[in-house]
Amino acid sequence: MSFKLLGLSEPILKAISKKGYDTPSPIQAKAIPPILDGYDVLASAQTGTGKTAGFTLPMLHILSENPKEKFRPIRALVLTPTRELAAQVYANVKEYSEFLNLRSTVIFGGVNQKPQVSNIRNGVDILVATPGRLLDLVNQGHISLKRIEIFVLDEADRMLDMGFLRDIERVMKLMPDRRQNLMFSATFSKDIKKLAFTILNNPVQVEATPENTAVEAISQKVYRVAKAHKTGLIIKLISDGDWKQVLVFTRTKHGANNLTKKLIGAGITAAAIHGNKSQGARTKALKGFKDGQVRVMVATDIAARGLDIPLLPHVVNFEIPNISEDYVHRIGRTGRAGAKGEAISLVSADETTFLRDIQKLIGEKLPVEIMEGFEPDPNASTTPIKPGQNRQPRNSKPKGSGDKSKSNSSSGSGGRNRNKNKSRSSNNDRRSNSSRS
Ligand code: AMP
Repeated sequence: MSFKLLGLSEPILKAISKKGYDTPSPIQAKAIPPILDGYDVLASAQTGTGKTAGFTLPMLHILSENPKEKFRPIRALVLTPTRELAAQVYANVKEYSEFLNLRSTVIFGGVNQKPQVSNIRNGVDILVATPGRLLDLVNQGHISLKRIEIFVLDEADRMLDMGFLRDIERVMKLMPDRRQNLMFSATFSKDIKKLAFTILNNPVQVEATPENTAVEAISQKVYRVAKAHKTGLIIKLISDGDWKQVLVFTRTKHGANNLTKKLIGAGITAAAIHGNKSQGARTKALKGFKDGQVRVMVATDIAARGLDIPLLPHVVNFEIPNISEDYVHRIGRTGRAGAKGEAISLVSADETTFLRDIQKLIGEKLPVEIMEGFEPDPNASTTPIKPGQNRQPRNSKPKGSGDKSKSNSSSGSGGRNRNKNKSRSSNNDRRSNSSRS
């Protein structure tokens, strides 16, 4: 299979070849044909599968087929849950549209709106946005979504986790009924299926990996460890393994800051990335990590969502997530684009229930090891910690370093069928989550 066979235009093929891609990834091969045919698409794909190009390439193809108007109305909207993801998607849109006469821009909160407004005033065909800033600028009269032809909802599951349901519903009301909708999600909960029903019209469903399963290229392992020994164990793993780049997940922002300090104290370069950090600090941390100046990035789930860090070899769950789907998202940061990756989870007694839930979700039992010198506490309670209650009193100190470990349905059929959507149901009685990080 080649990109050419998918029916993409020459300028897009040129951009793809400049990026060095030879063949479409499975999600691209499955999603691009029905999108080009004008269908709504519901795609199951997580970051790392090439999903961004999966919706961007056909979107660019469709937009470039119609001649531009003198005044460029916004014709395509890509909604993403986080600022980092918005910036990444925009960077991709820019690259793939290099040889096309299409303009794009990105807007997100946490930074001055003035340059964003001035970019929009100049006229853009494609807008990549996070929901909050988008609605802000719509309310201020800087943006109209009345001419949207293609709407992309990226990482829909995370959108719901972050409490954006109401915002999505508001955005929907601002767009014309006749449009093409593309929805991407890594997991498919009942709520996601409900949202898909509201947004999509007779969609073609495509999936890159089986629903809710971890990527095969990732080797997964659990270390049973006393809570108080986790920091010592992670320092040992990083040092002994001579890991050059590792993404570490904590459950809370406070936990991320704490661990970062301890790693730096142990002589390991580290930076934290979470919702309380300014956009500047987040961008700087990510850049330092990508450039190799920072060895460890400690992140909360929401901050790390969708980050494109190519070929990340190690992911560590310093605390395993209490939401099982987050485990799949987290380990999806490694083993990307065909490369082998390792995902290690440090599990204390009070996380036993979470581990059980994760194993149930992914349908496999994870291999468990115990590192000498960092054994689990046999007297610790297995009662799960409550959300938000991250730390328990530490009454024992790490014993110091031990040494050895002991241990598709894509059819794409039919002719061009663009703008076939006639009416859509609205559903205003959904409840949104409350917290955003
Ligand atoms: P995404 O899932 O969109 O975040 O993409 C993951 C990574 O795969 C990004 O670094 C892309 O540049 C890369 N990528 C996307 N499509 C392809 C392809 N067809 N061949 C090789 N790499 C790709």
